[in-house]
Amino acid sequence: MTSLRETPGWVALPPLVDAHVHLDKTLFGSRWIPHRGSGTVADRVRVEEQTLAGHPDSVSVRGARLLERLSSRGVTALRSHVDITDVTGLRHLEEVLALREQWTDRLSMDVVAFPQRGILRQDTVAGLLRDAMAAGADTVGGLDPTDFDGDLPGHLDVVFGLAAETGSRVDIHLHEPGATGDVALAAIADRTTELGLAGRVVVSHAFCLADLAPSALAASADRLASAGVGIHTSLPQLGVIPPVPTLLAAGVNVAVVSDNIRDSWSPYGRGDPLERACLAGYLFGWNTDDGLERALSLVTSAPSRSLGLQSSDPGGGPADSGRDPDPFLDYVLVRADSIGEAIVDQPGARIVVRAGRVVAGQEYADTLQQAPVTGSRP
Ligand SMILES: [Zn+2]
Repeated sequence: MTSLRETPGWVALPPLVDAHVHLDKTLFGSRWIPHRGSGTVADRVRVEEQTLAGHPDSVSVRGARLLERLSSRGVTALRSHVDITDVTGLRHLEEVLALREQWTDRLSMDVVAFPQRGILRQDTVAGLLRDAMAAGADTVGGLDPTDFDGDLPGHLDVVFGLAAETGSRVDIHLHEPGATGDVALAAIADRTTELGLAGRVVVSHAFCLADLAPSALAASADRLASAGVGIHTSLPQLGVIPPVPTLLAAGVNVAVVSDNIRDSWSPYGRGDPLERACLAGYLFGWNTDDGLERALSLVTSAPSRSLGLQSSDPGGGPADSGRDPDPFLDYVLVRADSIGEAIVDQPGARIVVRAGRVVAGQEYADTLQQAPVTGSRP
């Protein structure tokens, strides 16, 4: 018997992981709402609150639409940041935690308690973050400690204090440019080392790395690598994209993520990690098959390490789950001849196998007339 994994004309990829999604913000699948441009982070937060306040669909409905897309494209693990503010309280979190429960057979979800309006400038958020972790959030979030909260050490005291108290991972949005951002990166690396959190701390965006002179960049990359701090990039607009090849060469765990998918922050995004891998390969000139496989690793093994789903090295220890993904039980079949073609063409025909069971794309599996339709070892 030939296993599904060996089907001619289909290529098996490792499980796809999207380590930065905002399920509570997305308008994916809803009526198109024209994007209202960009401003400061604070301006965007205000536009978003107005948009969502007038939207007919709940977090549960909008989030489920995006989960359906992500799952059908091969995502079996994701990290979703959920707003915790004086305005939202824990309302968004409660809906996303319910989605996590409803989708548990198809994917695992790491939920970040994310202070979208800062921590110290809000009245209730420091306490709400603690409540969020007690309610079931997995990871402590942070946001622009200097530019938004005006107090780098004070902000990190709350974030890392809570991580130490709860044994959680950390994921900090850092949009801060130049030296401001680099000072924050250094402080984050120091806290990570002091608390023994190597492999458990991620900085999302890290736009500042695009501003640094080569010597400062090299120093910053080495510091991140030795502290075990990962970088998650959504490959944003020109000028703020972190120099991914340099970071990889220094040994930093870099993942490519979606971040905003059709919401008040961005009209773009298809909920497909292969689209992100393709964009990475295109931007960085990775044109050989080896290069395309490197691009694939940024949406598979790298985010898998960040989320504790795969052994982390150096220094991060074993997977939280106790096992690495098994290539015979956890994979995504894509109708393509090769990994390169799968990345470049991004066909929608996919069969998603998780723990040996088809969890999405059953209609394609049925047409292959394999019996039994499982991901069993050959
Ligand atoms: Zn984000």
